[in-house]
Amino acid sequence: MLLVDDALFLEHRAREPHPERPERLLAARRAVEGLRARAPVDVLAPRDATDDELCRVHTPAYLEELGRWAGKSGMADADTFLSPQSVSAARRAAGGAVALAEALWRGTAESGVAVVRPPGHHALPDRAMGFCLLNNVAIAAAHARSLGAERVAILDWDVHHGNGTEDMFYADPSVLYVSLHQAPYYPGTGAASDIGSGEGRGFTVNVPLSAGARDAVYLAAFDRVIGPILEAYRPSLMLVSAGFDAHERDPLGGMALTDLGYAALSRRLLGVLPEHCALGLVLEGGYDLAGLEGALGASLGAIARAEAEAETALEPRAEPVGAAHAAEIQRALSALGSSWKLG
Ligand SMILES: [Zn+2]
Repeated sequence: MLLVDDALFLEHRAREPHPERPERLLAARRAVEGLRARAPVDVLAPRDATDDELCRVHTPAYLEELGRWAGKSGMADADTFLSPQSVSAARRAAGGAVALAEALWRGTAESGVAVVRPPGHHALPDRAMGFCLLNNVAIAAAHARSLGAERVAILDWDVHHGNGTEDMFYADPSVLYVSLHQAPYYPGTGAASDIGSGEGRGFTVNVPLSAGARDAVYLAAFDRVIGPILEAYRPSLMLVSAGFDAHERDPLGGMALTDLGYAALSRRLLGVLPEHCALGLVLEGGYDLAGLEGALGASLGAIARAEAEAETALEPRAEPVGAAHAAEIQRALSALGSSWKLG
């Protein structure tokens, strides 16, 4: 397991109180430390992302605007703050995601995690949004493509829809974007009928779920929609926009995933990847510190196959999926039926 971390990720700070705070990184580090007792973890120190790497998904005008923010404090939108070190942290965070993708693509490790701040999946080509300045996971996916990865898949299990990532690859079949998210909810995008355009039609997969979804709902959505599509797509590299704000403890999200649920999702994801396809997690949201630490730790443990107990003992309790959630999963299935063979 590779860990991408950097001291700069602590230096992005809002006027308090703000949920996207440096203490989140300390919680993520505790989760990795917990894994270290059970599995080897190698640390990779990232560099800054270059302008060329950033411009694969962001506009030069936006990078210029960000440059003008460097060293200053302010607000990029109603809920996206900048502190004097924020632009440096964002460039390093994007570089961290790039380093992770490159190491995984080159076979340095089978899996890894980049515990980056600020997060990225709401950042659009030309503007900051929703706590996000640069779209780390999208920059990483575009970088892997430039190195020769034919098909990159991104599973976004953050409770919010990753509108920025979707936007960047909406017409691009070489990056499959898959999102499980709460709806209706911020930022309001990610309808089941939004499946991509042009050559990218079918390569955006949205599974919006109403509030209250528990482990069984997420696992049913994975088993019925996401797993079969990933199996057919056969990604050369798998990235996760790993937000933990769908956790039952999270103060922002309205979902009810448990640590075991995240572990089970991670295990299922590993199970549908082709041989030699590496898996990298890029941190997004997750605003309850214990929830973030527990769910990230459980996910990493599942990915590193570090658990001493039999995997069957680690499955969350089987529960029925309610009619409303079942109908939502069915809607996603129907929207994608003409693009993929789904049961
Ligand atoms: Zn989120």
